[in-house]
Amino acid sequence: MDSVDVPMTLTTNQQSSTKFPLKICYHEIYTNGIHPDARFPRDRYVKLLQQLTTHSQTRMFDFIEPKQASKSDLLIAHDSKYVNDFLTQNLTEKEIRRIGLTPWTQDIIPRTLFLMGGAITALRHVTEYGGIAGNMAGGTHHAHYDFGSGYCIFNDLAVCALLAVEKYDFERVAILDFDVHQGDGTATILQNIENALTISVHCQGNFPFRKSISDHDISIPNGAEDDEYLAAIEQAILLANEFDPDIILYQAGVDGLATDSLGKLNITRNGMQERNQMVFDYVTEHSIPTVVFMGGGYSKPISHTIDAFTDLFVAAAITNEKMLSKLS
Ligand SMILES: [Zn+2]
Repeated sequence: MDSVDVPMTLTTNQQSSTKFPLKICYHEIYTNGIHPDARFPRDRYVKLLQQLTTHSQTRMFDFIEPKQASKSDLLIAHDSKYVNDFLTQNLTEKEIRRIGLTPWTQDIIPRTLFLMGGAITALRHVTEYGGIAGNMAGGTHHAHYDFGSGYCIFNDLAVCALLAVEKYDFERVAILDFDVHQGDGTATILQNIENALTISVHCQGNFPFRKSISDHDISIPNGAEDDEYLAAIEQAILLANEFDPDIILYQAGVDGLATDSLGKLNITRNGMQERNQMVFDYVTEHSIPTVVFMGGGYSKPISHTIDAFTDLFVAAAITNEKMLSKLS
């Protein structure tokens, strides 16, 4: 602040941004626990961390290292045989293939537990303080009750939804899943839980090809652009609002970007920013504590994914500060 070279607006923003920094959970095992030869682009985590820590608004972020989730955390949403088989390295080849992230490293078990721990830490934080907190990974919506799939081993959205209801006394949890892929595992695990509302906006032609039934599925056609996508997002937020949630779990995957190598939508970076802003305006207006789960993003080059996630966390940080300033 004493350097004349720093533009005044930047200095002002930085100063005003430190009161309520956005808690973001990250552990280096998020990156290093995936084999460098895996098809999954593990570098997206460390690259995002670099971009956020060198960002002009970096003082708005407070990175925290989570603890590992416990086995009982997993059992709230998962079958005990599946949990035990994973923790004792007794999954079959077929079960591992269905998950992917292969070849697995020795750290796959701690990585999975730290990842879930990050989601739970963020949940606990918003339970205590309100506002927004995030996990810089996860959104593992393809993990089912007794099997994993599509890069997902255990379902952090389902675990957090059930913890929110059973442990933290929330009455209505809404899951907004805006990843390009349907939140099939979350939908099936939570299908009979009245306190949890699952809403998935996804591309019809993407994995999973046999879709589950969420409370609300808004399926949009391959190749859809910003207008159609944002109309679906608006509809999803209206449906959430009817449910009157007291906490929101936001799966904010950016694999709907036109540059994504897996997603089949044609969403621009600007469209993604608008999507996030619609969610953040909604939670600010109603003061709803919100946990951000990172979700998918596989652009080629990966820099488009990193930029879109940077936008997400910057917007989340600005929103968090607004929400907490209102409360204090
Ligand atoms: Zn996805």
